[in-house]
Amino acid sequence: MDENTGGLDGLFAPERVAVVGATETEGSIGRAITGNLVADFAGETVPVNPKYDEVLGLDCYPDVASISDDVRLAVVVVPPSIAVDAIRDCGEAGIRNVVVITAGFGETGSEGASRERELTEVAAEYDLNLVGPNSLGVMSTPSGLNATFGPENALPGSISFMSQSGAFITAVLDWANDEGIGFKDVVSLGNKAVLDETDFVEAWSDDPDTDVILGYLEGIEDGGAFIESAREATTDTPIVMVKSGRTEAGAQAVSSHTGTLAGSEQAYEAGLEQAGVLRVENVQELFDFAQILAGQPIPDSEEVAIVTNAGGPGVMTTDAVGDSSLSLASFSEDTLAELSEAMPEEANIYNPIDAIGDADIDRFEQALDIALADENVGCAVVLSAPTAVIDFDDLAEVIGERQAEYGKPVASVLMGGERTESAKMVLREHGIPNYFDPARAVRSLDSLVRYREIREREYEAPESFDVDRERAREILARADERGDNRLGVEAMGLLDAYGIPTPEGEIAERPEDAVSAARDIEGEVVMKIVSPDILHKSDIGGVRVGVPDEDVADTFEDLVTRARNYQPDAEILGVQVQEMVDLDSGTETIIGMNRDPQFGPLLLFGLGGIFVEVLEDTETRVAPVSEREATEMVDGIRSAPLLRGARGRDPADREAIVESLQRLSQLVTDFPAILELDVNPLVAGPDGVQAVDVRLTVDRDEL
Ligand code: ADP
Ligand code: MG
Repeated sequence: MDENTGGLDGLFAPERVAVVGATETEGSIGRAITGNLVADFAGETVPVNPKYDEVLGLDCYPDVASISDDVRLAVVVVPPSIAVDAIRDCGEAGIRNVVVITAGFGETGSEGASRERELTEVAAEYDLNLVGPNSLGVMSTPSGLNATFGPENALPGSISFMSQSGAFITAVLDWANDEGIGFKDVVSLGNKAVLDETDFVEAWSDDPDTDVILGYLEGIEDGGAFIESAREATTDTPIVMVKSGRTEAGAQAVSSHTGTLAGSEQAYEAGLEQAGVLRVENVQELFDFAQILAGQPIPDSEEVAIVTNAGGPGVMTTDAVGDSSLSLASFSEDTLAELSEAMPEEANIYNPIDAIGDADIDRFEQALDIALADENVGCAVVLSAPTAVIDFDDLAEVIGERQAEYGKPVASVLMGGERTESAKMVLREHGIPNYFDPARAVRSLDSLVRYREIREREYEAPESFDVDRERAREILARADERGDNRLGVEAMGLLDAYGIPTPEGEIAERPEDAVSAARDIEGEVVMKIVSPDILHKSDIGGVRVGVPDEDVADTFEDLVTRARNYQPDAEILGVQVQEMVDLDSGTETIIGMNRDPQFGPLLLFGLGGIFVEVLEDTETRVAPVSEREATEMVDGIRSAPLLRGARGRDPADREAIVESLQRLSQLVTDFPAILELDVNPLVAGPDGVQAVDVRLTVDRDEL
């Protein structure tokens, strides 16, 4: 980080900027950047290029070392072959902030990839705050800094925006400038060789001039670090993000249920949710949310009042409220009395308030005033269709004034074309967005309510249980000695070591051992083939439930024969003899983990048994999870009512499931070598849970 001020101030608020590779050559990127800086930057622009004495009327230096004044930021636009050397020169000259526009690095194949590794090393050596390479550049409106080669500079505002696509930035600015939407800082992240989304979340969360952080991302470099920083940031700065594109699945072939059900898309969904990020699906929502979060206060309640002069749009708004986390406010007696006094008889004074088509500006204002004054009202949507008696500019002014008076957020729906244009500008001055579509107004208000919930979240630390870590390590080490990277019920001890209840069981290598094991267990037993080569035991008839003592020896032989028939060279570790678990009073659930390349261990909970993939009724969270998060997972599945007891069944022991998830979370956090793990089923009975099966894949290099 920049020594002088901390954070990324040197990047966004430098006094002097060197352009390494500055030129006057028309149509070149070097020219575009130098021109953009010369045009708007309040500080000093210093061209660097050994070929010229002067660029665009400014003295040009042969290299950064010969610049006599302090330079805090260098923008590098030289060809890729000399870019790394140019960056090293910056480091040598004490320039700590570098924006690398030059392309031809990791995005272009193996030569570029090795060049990018070199660049990363140089950046580490000189402790550089480096943006890019392959970046469009950075902007910061307070000083007019436009160190990009885009055609337009941003308007001033309080939204700070990062994008993994430079082209998207130019498109957004072209549109935002027309709409009058302003920005504080804009960053094109490029290849993210050094600085990535987490660094900018941290920098902007400390920036008093940034009200909202926006991101357009194709991937997140380090999910765990991002979650941590974003959680912290969102306690006072909302983050809105679009995540586009599919990330590559992990290198390992997926062999578990959890692996199939908890892929990278689920990891992003869970990770961004846990980070407190408002994830949006499209660009329109990205800016709808950004504008209202930047312009309007956070409401005290989700109760919305709707004020309209048209019935139809009022109904559409009510429908949209039903699909959101807002609810229709019910007005107090006083409010209703005032409204019936002020409104004509034909008007509807219950929410939505319909002031009807002949409502003039005064009636509109009264209705809005009375509604906003009600303490049951947290926010409002004002709708108007064009009528002969309403002037939209006047209405916009009234909406703005009333909003400011009550300090409750308002979204406006002045419906129409041309005639709304100037009214929109009036509303914008008050920070109020206007939409044609009532559903967009509702969704935008909804983002405020959702952000309120995020801001108020309290993050509990994950619980740390007393476990036998050493025993777990030994079990994994034994598998490593055998050369297995796939483990089955022979690793049940792992669960036991971490306090996840398992039924009594033993692995027998000979029929007579099975007989004696069964004798130690009360009643009938379950017998299962144990082989790292057989993943789904029941698929080959490798599980026998309810075996009486006298059949144990024969069953042993039979299970081994089946395994041999299935795969003659299968490695057979033996047969597990296991205590019966009562499936009549219990429900088969699944708890599992899949390690995501970006977010790390992703936990899964769902209904288990053989139909997990068919039901697809699961919840995922990035581990480690707190008790609250584990509880949300259990309560979050669609079939949760089944666990609460349905059709005369006893409710499952919810606390025991929650605790098992937390213990599994601790296990997979302690052992990064575990790549995938399924406990299917975890039988959830009325008094506790039993893990009757386990399957996992380990990365032996990590052991
Ligand atoms: P796999 O998933 O490899 O086929 P499991 O050990 O999960 O093997 O067994 C398959 C099914 O057999 C379970 O879903 C469960 O219905 C039943 N089962 C397994 N172990 C027991 C047990 N100890 N008590 C009762 N039923 C069991
Ligand atoms: Mg199973």
